[in-house]
Amino acid sequence: MTVLDQTPAGTSSRTAELIMDLQSVGLRIETTLETSRTGGAGPSDSGMLWIEGVPVTVPPSDTSPYSLRAEDEGQGIFRDGVKVASVAGTKRPRFYDLETADGVPYHQIALLHLDSLASTVVQACNYWGNSDQCGFCGIGVSLAAGNTIAKKTPEMLAEVAVAARDLDGAVDATLTTGSSVAPDRGALYVARCGQAVKEAAGLPVEVQFEPPRDLSVLDQVHDMGIDSVGVHIESFDPAVLARVAPGKFRTGMDAYFRTWERAVQLFGEGRVSTYVILGMGEDPDLTVEMCRRAVDIGVYPFVVPLRPVAGSLMQDVPAPSREYTEPIYRKVAGFLAERGLGADTAVAGCARCQACSSLNLVQQTTGVTPCGTGGAPAAAPLLQIGKRPGA
Ligand code: SF4
Repeated sequence: MTVLDQTPAGTSSRTAELIMDLQSVGLRIETTLETSRTGGAGPSDSGMLWIEGVPVTVPPSDTSPYSLRAEDEGQGIFRDGVKVASVAGTKRPRFYDLETADGVPYHQIALLHLDSLASTVVQACNYWGNSDQCGFCGIGVSLAAGNTIAKKTPEMLAEVAVAARDLDGAVDATLTTGSSVAPDRGALYVARCGQAVKEAAGLPVEVQFEPPRDLSVLDQVHDMGIDSVGVHIESFDPAVLARVAPGKFRTGMDAYFRTWERAVQLFGEGRVSTYVILGMGEDPDLTVEMCRRAVDIGVYPFVVPLRPVAGSLMQDVPAPSREYTEPIYRKVAGFLAERGLGADTAVAGCARCQACSSLNLVQQTTGVTPCGTGGAPAAAPLLQIGKRPGA
């Protein structure tokens, strides 16, 4: 049964259905798409669009039945020659044309992902380039292409954040980092960067890092004024994790849960999130059950379809179908509704933005009930939400 089957005809449900389809089959770009992202940490390679007012990241695909075309005013998405949605807001951000006093272009320091400023503050990872490299990740790709710089300073990021807020309406900042061999795994540096952004621009900030060896690092991150944290397990299926992210597998699922529990104590429920990537061969029932465990301790499992990054080890793996992802979205959305969590409780970061997932769309447009079986449509409008950093 689909979202459309269970909700009255309306813009919201049609838009949710379209977005789930697009995130599976991609979009043929037949016009200029000025806001796209290639490489960066994590699993996302995408174009960024506002589809019927909803922020969305969509993988480009030459074989998609959907195409993006220019219209007299704005752009539209077409299928079989028929327009199915309006698109707006894909113009190149104005702050991209600025540079620091040292001549570093702002767009090499941070990117605007729809309405969220995003950056990988250290563009290196101790797992990259060896047998531990995460299969879906492209952190070394954008650096090798010269699209970014190896390390951004807190001062640089603060300067860019003010410009992104003032010139392009950035509403939050999402900062990530490659994993480090240091005991804090890079958490303290990315948090210092977040602190500088927050102090200069006043934006809510999420920082993302691997589980620190000493959990007191989380107290230091919290004391720096950071609003939310992302600590990403990527897959709840141990066999998949061992295959696609061996370094994270060695860290161990228990270490993620211990980190999340401590983080929820500090930051609050819903302000701690983890990516959960669908389409890597995982057991869907196990994935849903572990998402329930995460939600039960106040963690937001940000369920996303695999978005293979060109140049990553998994670049040829297809995205999962909507038929596969939608039932998982529905069940996890039910757990979130039961716990009172949603994009609005995330405050900052990927779970706030939601553009890489249809999870919050499903939660909002189907009025998912606590058992995850659907119900009356919610009155709330389609939400706002972001993406995975990656200048
Ligand atoms: S830990 Fe994995 S996903 Fe994160 S930056 Fe390193 S290789 Fe990429």
